[in-house]
Amino acid sequence: MRVTVLGYQSPYPGPGGATPGYLIETNEVKLLVDCGSGVLSQLGVYLPIYELDALLLSHYHHDHVADVGVLQYGLMVHQLFGQRPADQPLPIYAPALQKQQTKTLTYRNATRFFPVEEQSQLAIGDVHVSFLRTDHGDGDPCYAMRLVANGKTIVYGADSGPGTNWRGFADRADLFICEGTYLDHNRPAKPNGHLSVRQAAELAQAHDCRSLLVTHLFHGYEESEVLGQAEAFVAGPVYAARIGLQIEL
Ligand SMILES: [Zn+2]
Ligand SMILES: [Zn+2]
Repeated sequence: MRVTVLGYQSPYPGPGGATPGYLIETNEVKLLVDCGSGVLSQLGVYLPIYELDALLLSHYHHDHVADVGVLQYGLMVHQLFGQRPADQPLPIYAPALQKQQTKTLTYRNATRFFPVEEQSQLAIGDVHVSFLRTDHGDGDPCYAMRLVANGKTIVYGADSGPGTNWRGFADRADLFICEGTYLDHNRPAKPNGHLSVRQAAELAQAHDCRSLLVTHLFHGYEESEVLGQAEAFVAGPVYAARIGLQIEL
């Protein structure tokens, strides 16, 4: 499996930046996980957008879904141009919700919405995906994802505060993509559905993960500061997210 960071910033993209989006490629499929602001322009650096096989969305906050609409327009035009079969909508797997956001995920023949719940299990090509609800936000679900292919495991923690009950979900992941929204100096006294970089590192270490990608960072953070505060993770390599970072597993 190969992970490419297309966007990692939050809550908004800095100059030339992008909010969360990750390209995950296996022998058989190309998956986009989250589709934040600026992600589509980064995706095009690596492949024509019409080659995507599926989009998985962790939740509906703007920093994770902002580019879905332009992805739909793009796919519609590529179908018109004959570069993607007109009867082959891109599946979008996203949390089931009785709200307007889900209604826009099916768009003409370009995309089709498939609701996901915590107990859902997906097989997309050679990738198996399972889900865990995280401690995040306003009552609507946010799902972490465990993706397994070719004997390797990536856990994407999505947005997840310290109240998340991981129940072994991240155990022994070859790569844990974990949010580290805060640094020591701006971490709020009361948890609000996010982790600090320090907490992300402690979590990855506690779950025996083999490598850690700290993400969901404010665009002004210094990489050296992020890596410094991830000192609790000593089991393997630690990466601070940046656009274009690729990790091979
Ligand atoms: Zn969020
Ligand atoms: Zn977010």
